[in-house]
Amino acid sequence: MSLAPERLARFARHIVLPEIGGAGQAALANSHVVLIGCGGIGSPALQYLAAAGVGRLTLVDDDVVDVSNLQRQTIFTPSDVGTPKAEAAAEWVRRFDLGLEVTAVVERLGGDNADRILPDADLVLDGCDNFATRLAVSDACVARAIPLTSAAIGRFQGQVANFAGHREDQPCYRCFVGDAFDAQDCDTCAADGVLGAMVGMVGTFAAMHAIRVLVHGHAAFGDPKYGSLTLIDGMNPGMRSIRIAKDPACSACGA
Ligand SMILES: [Zn+2]
Repeated sequence: MSLAPERLARFARHIVLPEIGGAGQAALANSHVVLIGCGGIGSPALQYLAAAGVGRLTLVDDDVVDVSNLQRQTIFTPSDVGTPKAEAAAEWVRRFDLGLEVTAVVERLGGDNADRILPDADLVLDGCDNFATRLAVSDACVARAIPLTSAAIGRFQGQVANFAGHREDQPCYRCFVGDAFDAQDCDTCAADGVLGAMVGMVGTFAAMHAIRVLVHGHAAFGDPKYGSLTLIDGMNPGMRSIRIAKDPACSACGA
């Protein structure tokens, strides 16, 4: 697929990068990303995915914008308070780039609607705020052979990884966290607090990880680094990566 002249101009700074180039940019334009959660992580991730020219975006969130979200969920303004996040986020994309196709889904992804929402996704980016949804999203991706970018945050700590658990040699998100649905999660943001700039960093890092997957096979930047978890520390600023092992007994991706 070749890009129209106005698209070439819009994405000139990507195209001039040898590691992205015209082929990488075309791959982004041909991609469909399903974003789970339009909150602290999803909001900056969406901004950079849309800015990168990801051609099709499906935004899934069953929550509405609350005034306390404005501290970190950068696409929303006070006039969005009370509006479903997925719809307000889709409106943001339409204002930003009419060349992108965007769909809002005001639902929580689970076993019953995954078949309707996910089938032709090239990638799912999960930045939701609870373990039950994270595990449901991961299982749905494994079952449909869809790569998953998973990003999470608590207080000053973030973590981001790409998963391809449908592959024999690759772990899934469930291999990483196990089956404990009741572990602490970011539903506790309200009680524990979270630094706004920190979710921005984790969300944009997740967008970069998603782009790695989307240009894989088209451009040199496309090394998905599946199964490598990057831990981002905002308190003692730094980053490190650890390998996640595949769990042979995993109920989603195990043998
Ligand atoms: Zn697994």
